[in-house]
Amino acid sequence: MQATREGTVTDGAAAGQPYVYRRRELVEPDWTRLPGWRGVTREQWESAQWQRAHCVKNVRQLRAVLGDLVADRFYADLEADQRGLATMSMLVTPQMLNTMVPLAVPDTDAFYADPVRRYMIPVASDRRTDWPSHPYASRDSLHEHDMWVAEGLTHRYPTKVLAELLSTCPQYCGHCTRMDLVGNSTPAVAKLKLAGKPVDRYEAMIAYLREHPGVRDVVVSGGDVANVPWRSLESFLMRLLEIVTIRDIRLATKALMGLPQHWLQPDVVEGMERVGRTAARRGVNLAIHTHVNHASSLTPLVARAVHTALEVGVRDVRNQGVLLRGVNACATDLLDLCFALQGEAGILPYYFYMCDMIPGAEHWRVAVWQAQQLQHEIMGYLPGYATPRIVCDVPYVGKRWVHMVTEYDRERGITYWTKNYRTSIEAADSEALSRTYPYYDPIDTLPESGQQWWREQQAAAWARVWPVGSRAARG
Ligand code: SF4
Repeated sequence: MQATREGTVTDGAAAGQPYVYRRRELVEPDWTRLPGWRGVTREQWESAQWQRAHCVKNVRQLRAVLGDLVADRFYADLEADQRGLATMSMLVTPQMLNTMVPLAVPDTDAFYADPVRRYMIPVASDRRTDWPSHPYASRDSLHEHDMWVAEGLTHRYPTKVLAELLSTCPQYCGHCTRMDLVGNSTPAVAKLKLAGKPVDRYEAMIAYLREHPGVRDVVVSGGDVANVPWRSLESFLMRLLEIVTIRDIRLATKALMGLPQHWLQPDVVEGMERVGRTAARRGVNLAIHTHVNHASSLTPLVARAVHTALEVGVRDVRNQGVLLRGVNACATDLLDLCFALQGEAGILPYYFYMCDMIPGAEHWRVAVWQAQQLQHEIMGYLPGYATPRIVCDVPYVGKRWVHMVTEYDRERGITYWTKNYRTSIEAADSEALSRTYPYYDPIDTLPESGQQWWREQQAAAWARVWPVGSRAARG
């Protein structure tokens, strides 16, 4: 520290640094600044039932909260997205809506520009019109469904499984990678439905895990486990804890941030304590994985829910954010978020995933080289154990750190990756470990020559599907 002539104290270490850390304590934005919630009491706000009952599910309900603060053109833009483009239906908890333009009364421009709004309430004008989707985008871009060994149980890595207990969440994110399954159908996407009864599906999952002692790690997910009735979730977790070969259990819940009120309900806290105590007695690592993409989503209520979970025996709470253009894809936003997670909310900044190659996501996705640059820019500020890895979830491969690329065609935006294990569908594939697997950058980030190459590929593919004669015949 140095004293200046004016008597103020400056931080010499911060001078000239690309990022300057300053502690910012969490603030609960004042929900009464929004016209629809002027009369809402603290007791109502902190009630999970009130939050669930007042989720915003459509344009009319959003208008009832924001009223004239936001112009009609915004509501029309949202309606256009919901009518023809959205892969997720709208569902926003009051808690999350209140973190949009958190420290001011919103107006149209501020609401449009808000990073949380950009992924929770996407509008038609957010999306790209040149390449709204990458030609290789697909509904189940990670092929999780292909790797189901029981309904909802994905066995992709040798020692780990993903158990999707249900297909709903208390909030729906516009970029959801499980858009194939999660949420209600939209005009653009008819969702896959889980066919079996929950009790039968859970039984089949437990049976598979008992029969496969090489699986030691279960991500219990969905959807969001906050939507599983507590007694069912506790019973599933207790049965998992009886399998002596299971050593890690991770509960996936964005609701820890989007609906912290859920995780603060007395019956849920008491239940978590029973599960936490049992896990500790059996030496199992019980953790919560949440999904926070921007520092403004972290409030004192979120921190209270995290600290409560840690107090009742959850060993760790970790964040798996998603790197999204327009939301957090710059070093300052990522570092602000990581410091708020680590320093204020008690959440370990663990991963940032690159946004997966689902339809309609090109305006959110970043190129691999941009992700590599961001990883470089965030190194060295946080404690090493709390410095998140930016990872690319490569189809048929799994998570790779973004610097693990084997080859990179920068002109066409194609990266090639390798892997060191077989997924559950490759037992007989002799080349699974020797071939390379492609991943694609958003086309608008390529040089013009690369963009032209993709246009030609599209035109050729279109000509194959609709030969000239057939086009004429169809008028
Ligand atoms: S909380 Fe997770 S599973 Fe649910 S919509 Fe968001 S990203 Fe998808």
